[in-house]
Amino acid sequence: MARAGAPHYTIEGLGEGIHAAIARREGQSICNSGLVDLGEAGLVFDTGLTPESARYLRFAAERELGRPPSLVANSHWHFDHSLGNQMFSGVPIWGTRGTREVLLEKREELSAELTREALSKVVRQLEGRRGELRSEGAREDLEFILHIHRSLLSAAGRLRLTPPDHTFVDRLPLPGNRGAQLLSFGSGHTAADALLFLPHERVLFAGDLVVLGVQPSMESGDPDHWLVVLDEIERLAPERVVPGHGPVTTLDGLAEVRGYLAGVLRAAVGRRGAPLPAALRRWEGSVSLEENLRFARGWVAGRASRP
Ligand SMILES: [Zn+2]
Repeated sequence: MARAGAPHYTIEGLGEGIHAAIARREGQSICNSGLVDLGEAGLVFDTGLTPESARYLRFAAERELGRPPSLVANSHWHFDHSLGNQMFSGVPIWGTRGTREVLLEKREELSAELTREALSKVVRQLEGRRGELRSEGAREDLEFILHIHRSLLSAAGRLRLTPPDHTFVDRLPLPGNRGAQLLSFGSGHTAADALLFLPHERVLFAGDLVVLGVQPSMESGDPDHWLVVLDEIERLAPERVVPGHGPVTTLDGLAEVRGYLAGVLRAAVGRRGAPLPAALRRWEGSVSLEENLRFARGWVAGRASRP
C-alpha cells in the first residue's frame, strides 16, 4: 500500500519491514530508495540527491522501521543516489570498492560541479533553452531538470561529497535474519554497481541497472556487460524489482531495459540498426536518446581495442 511521503517520495510497502521510497517529480530526490528492517539494523539503500530530500528519507526510515537507520548502502556513485549520504553522518555507508574509488578519484571534478557558481551557470543555461524546445515532453523534462538544479543551487555551500566508508567487491551478506545481501555483478550502468536482494521475499532493489520511463544513462559503464548483469539479475528470479527511477516492476521491466540497451547498441552499428520501440524513444531524462546513441557508436567502434 502506498503512503504519502510528501513532498519527496511516495512510500510503498513491499512486505513486512520492506519499503520502496519512490521519488516524486515534485520533490528533490530524483531516484528511488529502499528502507528495510534487517532485524538487527535499519537499512537505507540509496540516499537521494539534496540535503532536504535525504533529511526526509532519514525521517521516513525511522518512521517506517521504528528505529533510526543504522546502515546505509549506495547502488552507485551518481549524485542522485549518493549525494544524500552527507545527511547520514555517524551511520556506516557501504558501497562497492569501485564506487568508493570513483568518488575519491573524481572528488575534485565532481565537487566543482556543486559550487554556487557552477550550479548558477547550469540554471542560466537551462533557462536559456526554454524557448528552443518544441515538444511538450521535452519542455516538461527541461522544467524537471531545472527544478532539480535550482534545488541543488538552494543548497550550495552545504553540499558535501560523502563516499562510502565501507566497501565490498561482489557480495556482502547483511546482518539480521532476512538473508539480505548486497551484490555486484561488475560493470553495467557504472563500473561497479551494487544491488540489494531480499531472497525470502524475492524483492530486488536494482539501482540504475533497471530504469523505467527515463533514458538510462549509458556513458559511465559498460553497456555490453550491462546485458550480462541483467541475465544475472534474472537468475535471482525476483518477483518485484524496485528500479533506480520509475515505478516498481517485475522481470518485465528488466526486459524493457534489455530491449533498450540492445536496441541502442544495434542502432550504433552502421546504419542497419533496428529501430527502437516507440515507447522507449519517448522516455525522457537528463540524458537523451541521441546522447546514448552517440556514446554507443564510440563504444561499438572501440570494441576491437578492448580486452
Ligand atoms: Zn545512475
